Amino acid sequence: MPKKKVVLNFPPHLIDQPIIYRLIAEKGLRVNILRARITPKKWGSMVVGLNGDKAKVEAGLTFLRDLGVEVELLAEEVKWREERCIHCTACLTPCPTQALYVDRATMIVGFDKEKCIACELCLNVCPYGAMEIAAGQ
Ligand code: SF4
Ligand code: SF4
Repeated sequence: MPKKKVVLNFPPHLIDQPIIYRLIAEKGLRVNILRARITPKKWGSMVVGLNGDKAKVEAGLTFLRDLGVEVELLAEEVKWREERCIHCTACLTPCPTQALYVDRATMIVGFDKEKCIACELCLNVCPYGAMEIAAGQ
């Protein structure tokens, strides 16, 4: 099922509107909120994963833009090359979503693809090239 990760920037007058609810209920999309910063009366931002068939995703993006939401597509996927990772944990601090995490008992680093927003902050941090850009879906 096609999936797009997008950054949504909400102008202040839309902050208290049920836009995500309408995206689900009216546009038939599954919405996975990966990160959100919402403050009353200020610009808010959200990183979401949109799941649905291509036409529904496109209709949902048009709906958002028509409302006045700024939409930025995160087209790339970031891939973790586990075989290159030496579990040094250098990438954990810059990762804003905890997609990269460490099991404190074993000190083994893991990667939760569903949480990754492809911000690329880990790419330059990893000294072993274990984080790579992969083709988007
Ligand atoms: S690209 Fe890297 S730093 Fe950004 S969310 Fe994904 S794993 Fe974390
Ligand atoms: S910085 Fe690179 S080698 Fe170190 S834990 Fe993260 S992915 Fe693994």
